[in-house]
Order: sequence, then structure tokens, then C-alpha cells
Amino acid sequence: MESKLMLYNTMTRRKEEFVPYNPPHVGMYVCGPTVYGDPHLGHARPAITFDLLFRYLRSLDYKVRYVRNITDVGHLEHDADEGEDKISKKARLEKLEPMEVAHYYTERYHAAMTELGVLSPSIEPHASGHIIEQIELVKKILDEGFAYESNGSVYFDVEKYNAAHRYGKLSGRNLDDIVANTRALDGQDDKRHSYDFALWKKAAPEHIMRWPSPWSDGFPGWHMECTAMSTKYLGEKFDIHGGGMDLMFPHHECEIAQSTAAHGTDSARYWVHNNMVTINGQKMGKSLGNFITLEELFTGKHALLEQAYSPMTIRFFILQAQYRSTLDFSNEALQAAAKGLDRLMKGVETLGKLKASATSSVDINDLWSRYTEAMNDDLNSPIVISVLFDWVRIINQINDGAQTISESDLAELRRMVNVIVFDVLGLRDEKSAGAAGNDKVTPLVEMLLEMRAKAKAEKNWALSDEIRDKLTAIGIRVKDRKDGCDWEIE
Ligand code: ZN
Repeated sequence: MESKLMLYNTMTRRKEEFVPYNPPHVGMYVCGPTVYGDPHLGHARPAITFDLLFRYLRSLDYKVRYVRNITDVGHLEHDADEGEDKISKKARLEKLEPMEVAHYYTERYHAAMTELGVLSPSIEPHASGHIIEQIELVKKILDEGFAYESNGSVYFDVEKYNAAHRYGKLSGRNLDDIVANTRALDGQDDKRHSYDFALWKKAAPEHIMRWPSPWSDGFPGWHMECTAMSTKYLGEKFDIHGGGMDLMFPHHECEIAQSTAAHGTDSARYWVHNNMVTINGQKMGKSLGNFITLEELFTGKHALLEQAYSPMTIRFFILQAQYRSTLDFSNEALQAAAKGLDRLMKGVETLGKLKASATSSVDINDLWSRYTEAMNDDLNSPIVISVLFDWVRIINQINDGAQTISESDLAELRRMVNVIVFDVLGLRDEKSAGAAGNDKVTPLVEMLLEMRAKAKAEKNWALSDEIRDKLTAIGIRVKDRKDGCDWEIE
């Protein structure tokens, strides 16, 4: 059995054993959202992927400092150097302060993440709160000779950097490919080369978000914030840098160039990227009419959706794919995920009610060893889920008397299932009384069912039936068994 966590490192293009610089401490930085619109499906996958990694590392007793930023300045419409700031634009159109826009959508993002069971990171720094650190970093890169000032803006000198280091090593591109894929300079640019990127931009007169700097009143380039904030909170070298595959170029490539230029070293040891989501086989995009926000998914209010899908259905669906494979959303796939999740949660519920025997006919170590093997193989969550389904079958066999489990094995099995399902996969039972925010339901139902059992013992069938029917009417289904009864909330 593989006992060490193997993570796929985008930088080396292979799975590598995860060994932190300073165990048990782990520093992890993940690029967070740009807060200018409602959180959507595209936000769910990276958040859940790195939440799974965060939770798994913690379950292995690592002390993880997880930093996930909020981009509230500097992300221009065309990503790096072109167009209006996304937040400024929204603020201008809606006649709001840019920070009102950022605050509103940050809260929306947090609320959606809580619904999806995504844990809050250890630190969530905002780009606008780290302008001084970003200016200091620009100065450092200028001092090292890898940037130039031009008309109040500062640009990274990619050609000079490429001669000393290699620009494009993460994405596997070389400068010629990059030139072929960038727009030619139109003579109005302050840059020397089309592939140079802004470290600091002079603000046009109408630009609202601006700060003083040695070069101009302006704002930092988008890539600066992650280098400045990861260095501030995790140091010049840290363990894991994560994000969606779409950020690999140019964003992460530029981050690597910036930190290498400033500190002489690439920041992260393991670069981890989740793959993208598609909808009915298509890339998600506003112009394609298939742009779905998380709220629309949770409520079912979107032309492409046949029904509402609960947050845990979305989470379970995302976990059913390994994070490096593409994931296609469709009504059929989500409905299948909802059924699967239901089957898993029913298994967990049955586990809670199992009765122990003198001996075990099942080997509970099978669950733990297969779970560990799958998670250690680059977080292979779909295999973990299929192992859990094997165990749901076994739990049902024990419940039906076809297998037996001893008292100590039963306690251990319950502990394992709790760790895997709730702590590491981060699922919750949305149908249980506790999940509905009312933990008084269970004792109340149990009390009514005790009264019903008494009525039955006294052959008062009318009362017994009345209790069952009234419970059914409020959505609590009672199933009689040989030795008592089961109940569930529909
Ligand atoms: Zn970033």
C-alpha cells in the first residue's frame, strides 16, 4: 500500500511525494475570486478542490496555514494590462463605491462557500489592503534590474528575465510561442515588448481606484498581489500554490517571474491546478447563455436547469471526479449525483443504528486502507466514494443479518466513516434534523414512536396508525421492522 501523499506537481509534470519544508507546518496559497459578480460554477471547483486538500492535510495532522486571497483591485477586463478594472467598471455602472461592490460580492462568495461546505481559509488577504507591500515588491524588482519605468507605469522586462531564468517553465511555453499569441504593440503602448506585463499602472484620469507611488498615482498589476501577499504570510518559499488551470498562464507564470526576480527563487515547491468545468460539453461563458451562478443552481432558476440542486449535490458531484480531469455539468449527471449522495447518507444513517454481535465477519481495515491509498494517490476522491459505496453495501448486509460486526469494530467503523465522509470529503447530511438546524426533531420523533410502540403493545391500532399517518403528513416516513421501526425525513 502506498502510504505517502503523492501530489501531481504541474511544474515537474509528475506525481511527487509531498514533503513540506518545515513539518508539521504547511504553507498553502490559492488564488481566490475577483469579487465583481455573483459566485458561479467556475468558483465551486477550485474552492472544493483546495478545501479537500486542506481538510486531508489537516487529517494527517499537518498544521496548515491556508491563504486564499480576495482580488478587489487590479484585475482588468482583459486580465493583465488592458481594459477597465472589473470592480471599478461595476461600480461606475451601478453608481457605487468600488469597495461597496467588492464587499457585497465577497459576502455573496462567503455565503455560497459556506453552503458548499468549504472551510474558511486561515488568512484571506485583500489586494487593496496590501498596496504598500506591492509597491515595495515593484521597487525590489526594479532594483534587481528586471523591470523598467515607462510614462508612470512599471513593466516587467520579460526578455531580460528570460535570458537569466526561463520564462514559461510552468506552462511549458517559450518566448516565441508567447509572441505568436500576443497582440502586436500598436505604438500607443508604454511597453517595450508585447509580452511584458504591468507591475504598476498609471491611472487614467477617470480611473477611480488609485494610490500614490514613486512612479504615479495608479494601481498594481494583477499578478503583483499574489506574490506580495504569499511572501508576506508564507515567506519567500512555501509548500503549495494552487489555482484553476486557467490561471497557469499568464497569472502563475508571472508570479513565478516576479518572485524569482525579487527573491532569486520560485515561491512554491508544488504547483497544483484543478481542471475546468464544462456545461453540457461546452465551456461556460456569458455569451453562450450557459453561465450559471451558484444561487441559480441552488434554486433551480435558470433556463438550462430542470430542477434545483442542493449545495451538497454540487459538492458530491465535484468530488466524484478527480480534480485534474475535466468535469461536465448536466441535469442527468447532477440528478445521478443527488441519488448517489442520498444512498451514501442512508448508509451512514443505517450505520448509526446497527447492532453489534459477538464477532465480526467483515474486515473494517479494508475501508481505511483503500481510502488512504486513494487519497494519497493525488486526492483520488472518486475512488474514495466508490469504496464508501462498497461499505454501504456491507453496512446493509450487517443490518439485514447477512454479516456481523463486533462492538469494537462497529465503534471503529463509525469513527472511520465520520472522518472520511464528514471531516475529509466535507459532506453533510442535508436531510437530517440536525442539518435543518433543529436538533430537537430527533428526540421528539423518537418519543412519538415510543408512544406508538406502547399503543401497539396495548393493541390500540387506531392510535398507532394515527401517529404514523400524522408523521407521514409532516414528511417523516416510518417503516416497520420485525423488532421496532426505522424512520427518515423525506
Ligand atoms: Zn493569484
